[in-house]
Amino acid sequence: MSDLDAFRLETRAWLEENCPKSQRGPVTPDGVIWPGRNQTFPSEDARLWFERMRDKGWTCPDYPAEYAGGGLSPAEEKVLREEMQRLNCCPPLTDQGIGMLGPALLEFGTEEQKAEHLPKIVRGELRWCQGYSEPGAGSDLASLQCKAEDKGDHFLINGTKIWTSYGVESDWIFCLVRTSNDGPKQEGITFILVDMETPGVKVKAIDLISGASEFAQVFFDDVKVPKDHVVGEIHKGWTVAKSLLKHERKMMSELSKGVLGGTVTLPDLAKEYIGCSDEGEITQPLYRDAIAHHEMNMRAIGLTGYRTHQEALARKMDTNVPLIMKYLGTSELQVKDELLVDMMGVRGLGWKDEQFNENEERATRELLFNKALTIAGGTNEIQLNIIAKRALGLPKGPHS
Ligand SMILES: Cc1cc2nc3c(=O)[nH]c(=O)nc-3n(C[C@H](O)[C@H](O)[C@H](O)COP(=O)(O)OP(=O)(O)OC[C@H]3O[C@@H](n4cnc5c(N)ncnc54)[C@H](O)[C@@H]3O)c2cc1C
Repeated sequence: MSDLDAFRLETRAWLEENCPKSQRGPVTPDGVIWPGRNQTFPSEDARLWFERMRDKGWTCPDYPAEYAGGGLSPAEEKVLREEMQRLNCCPPLTDQGIGMLGPALLEFGTEEQKAEHLPKIVRGELRWCQGYSEPGAGSDLASLQCKAEDKGDHFLINGTKIWTSYGVESDWIFCLVRTSNDGPKQEGITFILVDMETPGVKVKAIDLISGASEFAQVFFDDVKVPKDHVVGEIHKGWTVAKSLLKHERKMMSELSKGVLGGTVTLPDLAKEYIGCSDEGEITQPLYRDAIAHHEMNMRAIGLTGYRTHQEALARKMDTNVPLIMKYLGTSELQVKDELLVDMMGVRGLGWKDEQFNENEERATRELLFNKALTIAGGTNEIQLNIIAKRALGLPKGPHS
């Protein structure tokens, strides 16, 4: 038996023994395990699951063990992911620190920054948010104006960030700030870490159409931030920002299937809401066709993801693929949302009412929330511009 096979068996046995039954199955919005200074848990089982995974470093399985991570090789991490999927285990911890800031720190951080921040990410001690966008700088991110003035041993930050996911709940924010106006706009940007308890930081929630308030606007008013909070070189934050965006898009291409997952499939729900023949065939051909099309696309996306992973293991990955996968994955998720709500008919209009079951309420909210996924992390139009230019080598269009 190969070492990897032995690892698989060991992992499978450990998960079966240590993942509480309630922590298996599709994760509901109320069941997500978040980190934070004042961390709370949705249930005692959730706490137990988090603590067991944290102690093995498996909240961040690919981080080096010296920073409290799992120290798993890419192949082992894939095995862990597969075994977790097999049991339908809920994520033991969810945070932007894990998949976005952590990898950027591993690539660009100083030894002190890694030792300070990575173990806290693994152990869920702090919650992180991302301060990139500004009212005048979204797609055109390099136009950002939030200013950081060099005051010797610290920077003085003034300005605002908007659309900051989980800005209200977070403890720290990783930000792009303008430290110079000389030269092209991509130069003169610095990547900096800010404790949101620093005097002068104010956060205002923004409501979303889905009924949740996951967004915020963050204001900086003479906020003093030590210079050793800069990640990478001063004025060279664009390089860090781009690398982090790569990780963000990869994360977004692997989004969960929401209402679906575990044993619930789209054809099952179609049979429930539309009906099926004695042979088990969905009765309406238009839905049959649309569902088959969606399932085939999902299969193709899944297989491409698998192939890319294998190529990454062999260090032969095409770096354009995550870009394409973010576009395809989020777009197909919206196709699924539309189909689901359409099939449910009036039952797909549930909000907060006893007449609707949990799946129906979630389907409505997911339809609304997931609209945002083709905007966040780079809009579809921008993604297509980048794919056209970088992956396909096409000439620039009039608006790109
Ligand atoms: C759910 C969600 C979470 C987010 N979380 C965060 C976060 O945590 N931190 C953060 O910093 N930001 C976050 N954002 C902001 C996100 O990055 C921006 O919304 C996004 O980059 C688009 O910027 P904008 O909203 O300013 O739109 P704009 O850039 O003003 O774009 C408006 C429209 O014009 C189109 N457009 C713009 N330029 C071009 C072009 N050159 N060619 C073709 N079409 C173009 C766009 O595609 C879009 O349809 C989040 C957004 C969402 C929806």
